[in-house]
Amino acid sequence: MIKNDIIKNFSVIGCNIQYSRSPEIHKLFSKITGIKLDYDIISLATAQDIKSSNQDIIKNKLFEGAVFKFFKKNGSNSGLNITVPFKMRAFKICDHLSNDAKILQAVNTLWSKNGKLYGDSTDGIGFITDLNDRFINLKNTKINIVLFGAGGAARSILPSIFKNKLNPVDNVFIINRDKNKADLLVNEFKKLAETNKVSLYSDISVIKNKNINIDILINSATDKALLDNNLKNITIDLIDKNNIKFIYDLSYGTNIKTKFCELAYDFNIEFSDGLGMLVYQAAESFYIWNGVRIPKEDLLEVIRQLKL
Ligand code: NAP
Repeated sequence: MIKNDIIKNFSVIGCNIQYSRSPEIHKLFSKITGIKLDYDIISLATAQDIKSSNQDIIKNKLFEGAVFKFFKKNGSNSGLNITVPFKMRAFKICDHLSNDAKILQAVNTLWSKNGKLYGDSTDGIGFITDLNDRFINLKNTKINIVLFGAGGAARSILPSIFKNKLNPVDNVFIINRDKNKADLLVNEFKKLAETNKVSLYSDISVIKNKNINIDILINSATDKALLDNNLKNITIDLIDKNNIKFIYDLSYGTNIKTKFCELAYDFNIEFSDGLGMLVYQAAESFYIWNGVRIPKEDLLEVIRQLKL
């Protein structure tokens, strides 16, 4: 337990995030480590809420204004988590970036030192730690993954999927409502995939043509997409359910059964929501800001408490 009388200031910033669970998580981390902190929510208007033809420009200006105001007030004893839809915008305003952030071109963790803004991304490590906690590949061959969604979350977990040593991957297929975005993401990450001996596709006909067995379904699309029966139909059409071993949905915190959760029940397949990922990415941000690692057993207890 660390004794420190300074109260540090943290916050998460995004659109429509009044119900974020990050304050709860960081307050539990504070209890575990003895580091005194405040953790707030800065919830900005969505572009649609802004009645102007320059919605996106205004939204980004509001975001940048809020970030600079926060660090001007709180200085180096503070940090920000960035969430939907500002991770790529946050990347653009940093003076210094981690290697992961440079690959992803997105950040979820900001801090300030000597008046300069630093950025890193902890989503990838958060995701892969939780996935590896929950899924163990019992085959002797590499696994195949279908990833729904091609937004910021998909982007932030792709490199960690390619580099996963515990569950090495052979093929990754990206399926998105807007196919063009899936194509762009594949083009951007194809080289990194190849370097890690992974084949990356947005052409899902390859699954049937090459008779590829899909082991894991991951949903990184927003909860609105989960109301879209189309995804379920695509899944049932394309993928032999008898081979799927695990379904991971990055969404969390709703009491309604998501479509992916239903799919897992229907197919009798193991399922996880994204709460564990949220806790593990928060623990990495906490480490960046405070230099203190929270023991694994404490993190598992935090996940258990959040699920109650
Ligand atoms: P984003 O960049 O806005 O991307 C949204 C994705 O959802 C896009 O692929 C989009 O498809 C798809 N989508 C949205 N509405 C849809 C609909 N009605 N039908 C079909 N697809 C739809 O958001 P993001 O940052 O990727 O976040 C996505 C989700 O991941 C959120 O629920 C977020 O809470 C979750 N997340 C969880 C964690 C965690 O720690 N567990 C971390 C990060 C994100 P189009 O491209 O076709 O619009």
